[in-house]
Amino acid sequence: MNLNLNFCLSVFFILLLTACQPSEKDPELYQQQLFTFGTLVDISLLSDDPEQAQQVIDEISSEFDYLHTEWHPWKDGALGQANKRFSSSETFISSSSVIKLIQDSQLLSEKSNGLFNPAIGQLVKLWQFDQIENENYQFKLPEQKIIQRLLAQHPQMKDILIQNEMITSNNPATSLDFGAFAKGVAIEKMISLLKKHHIDNALINAGGDLKVLGSKNGKAWKIGIKNPANAQNPTEKAIIAAISLKDNEALFTSGDYERFFEFQGKRYHHIIDPRTGYPATGTQSVTVLAEDAALADAASTALFIAGPELWPEIARKLGILYVMLISDSGEIFLTQTMADRIELFTDIKPIIIK
Ligand code: ADP
Ligand code: MG
Repeated sequence: MNLNLNFCLSVFFILLLTACQPSEKDPELYQQQLFTFGTLVDISLLSDDPEQAQQVIDEISSEFDYLHTEWHPWKDGALGQANKRFSSSETFISSSSVIKLIQDSQLLSEKSNGLFNPAIGQLVKLWQFDQIENENYQFKLPEQKIIQRLLAQHPQMKDILIQNEMITSNNPATSLDFGAFAKGVAIEKMISLLKKHHIDNALINAGGDLKVLGSKNGKAWKIGIKNPANAQNPTEKAIIAAISLKDNEALFTSGDYERFFEFQGKRYHHIIDPRTGYPATGTQSVTVLAEDAALADAASTALFIAGPELWPEIARKLGILYVMLISDSGEIFLTQTMADRIELFTDIKPIIIK
């Protein structure tokens, strides 16, 4: 997760629309925090029209709420219904947004050698990360034989066939979970919405995954990147790096500290290696910078699973230029392009991959 270092207001829990003191002719900064899409979403935008600012924020808020249900893997939206039909091998019609999610992620899944695999919804569900907020839930390791059974069925995005808006899967184990992708797609949609309203300077930050437009009164949006080793302790020292984003750039991080259970001294986190059925090993966090937030989201997950050795190959296949990967042992890997942009706050010497 990243922390936006450049907020005009340092307090994060701003429930009301607030304007900071602008200099004379600068547009004002409006910030609002929403709880939507299962996370806190901070919206910052520059506008000289308070009514328009509020209206756009309200529109973003209801769009996020709508998409959250529409794309939830088992609630009663379009994706939840699709998942029920996959299990009974039906052919069915779904919403255009779900069809697009499927088609776009089919391509990304293939380019990531299947490491980004939204078809493993049953495996993800088995680990019960949705129970993290439930204080009464007692974590249990999923049974090895259930994991093996699901792995043997090998659900993949290419099992899904779409023809004239009709969807079917030739694998009844298909269950879609877009937890690694939907936030990026949604942020991309919100950015389009801002542009439609002629807002050229903004930041949408969904729990540390974000995209910017323009700048903050001429100064680049500067983003702090969490130190995964210290992520539970959100102080100044918890930031390992910072980067200034240019117009239209997104920054996404996948970390082993975002959602996890501690069990018998071991951490079981929410990024599942489709080859083993267990949380991916070798990586603490991956940060990806790209223009397309949806691509950045899928890629950060794929590179996390790829790990310290395989990630450069997968990044190339996905067309990702800017990467920082922090391995389990604390090594920092950077692409050369990322090294040229990022500011590191650590003595650890990064390993640069050309
Ligand atoms: P976050 O949502 O914390 O930013 P990610 O973008 O990496 O993190 O997405 C992790 C989520 O993606 C998991 O909670 C789960 O819903 C889903 N997921 C887990 N493993 C995979 C995988 N191999 N491929 C696609 N989606 C996955
Ligand atoms: Mg992701």
